[in-house]
Amino acid sequence: MLRILLPALLIAGLIGTVVRFGREGEEAAANPVAASVSVPAPSTATATVAVKDTVRASIAEVMTRQGAALLAGDRKAFVGVAAPSAKDSVAWLDDRFTTLRAMGVTRWTVTVGEVRSSAKYWEAGVDVEYCFVANCVKPLKAGLSTHWNVGYGTRTEITEIWDRVVGRTIHPWAQSKLTAVAGRRVVVAAPAALAARMPRVLATAEAAAKVADGFAATDRPGRYVLYLAGEKEWDAWAYGDEGSWVDGYANADSEAVVVRASALSSADLGMLLRHEFAHVASLVGRSVAVSNADAWWLKEGLADYAGFGPRSFGSFPRRTETAAFVRKGWNGDLRVQAPGQKASDRTASARYGVAYLGVQCLIQRYGQSRATSFVQAVAVQGVTIEIAAARSLGATWKTVNSTCATQIRKTVG
Ligand SMILES: [Zn+2]
Repeated sequence: MLRILLPALLIAGLIGTVVRFGREGEEAAANPVAASVSVPAPSTATATVAVKDTVRASIAEVMTRQGAALLAGDRKAFVGVAAPSAKDSVAWLDDRFTTLRAMGVTRWTVTVGEVRSSAKYWEAGVDVEYCFVANCVKPLKAGLSTHWNVGYGTRTEITEIWDRVVGRTIHPWAQSKLTAVAGRRVVVAAPAALAARMPRVLATAEAAAKVADGFAATDRPGRYVLYLAGEKEWDAWAYGDEGSWVDGYANADSEAVVVRASALSSADLGMLLRHEFAHVASLVGRSVAVSNADAWWLKEGLADYAGFGPRSFGSFPRRTETAAFVRKGWNGDLRVQAPGQKASDRTASARYGVAYLGVQCLIQRYGQSRATSFVQAVAVQGVTIEIAAARSLGATWKTVNSTCATQIRKTVG
């Protein structure tokens, strides 16, 4: 997460909340056509295991067919899984078709979970794996919640569908109708009002992605997804606790970065994107159990290093506040903590500055590859810093810290 000179916190825990889309009234499901019932009307009493298996298979068949329609570009078949009377669901699916096709979806694989019956409808959670690049090795994940009429009349059909949170946010593609342009490493998606700005942003983003790829500890992202948010979308796609000063954030699990359109006029868009894409590249698969205490300086230091690049302290944009903090206030521990929520801009920037100098020292002393592995071990896998130092850097943490602390004090002068 970042404002040009003030990156903040990023990538946090996985909090499940539910936002509903396409919520239908109960009427459609409450008045099923009772003819030719191959499956009993849903009720707790009749929902035996065998019935549930039949219902689940029927839903899976419809959803699988719908995925094939998406990849084949068949809008009618994709949207047609919803009951015509379920107008919100029809509209929601139509927007998803437009958006996912524009973004170049290449895979859409569904797994239907447990089905449950209520008095009026069948309910099923659906897990989706999808990609925005051909032959992707790490599919992205989405979750859908669905309500169904099963076997009433002639077909099994959706009466409600909405996106379920996987991770911390609802994917922007599931919330807004978007247009998109794709390059080799990045797809840029935005509401139509921002479409004119996408080509210029894509060029900057492609260059940023090349830098960020160098910080991937394992597989590099399939294709970075960059969402441009107008003010309305910025509110709707909120990550959670970003302040009004934040211009962008990364969501490594969806290989996505969201940037506020008002930040685009900044000459430092490249820096912003290198920073956020580096988060995506370096933090994929981060465990929610990993403590931020040892990891914050590594996450933000690495992202800032990708953003600013190796440079002399004299040309470091955070020089003044960082030097003041190092000379008075810093205790010599590389593990600087995240700025508090009420920290001043200057205080926050100083902490990012020390994190940058710490990671720059790791890279200078041990090389980018070993330093990136070290960040991966501590910030993604949650390995203790002592064990990670020995494994990745071949030195004790005590030695690493004292070596780099000495270098930082000397650099700052
Ligand atoms: Zn950041």
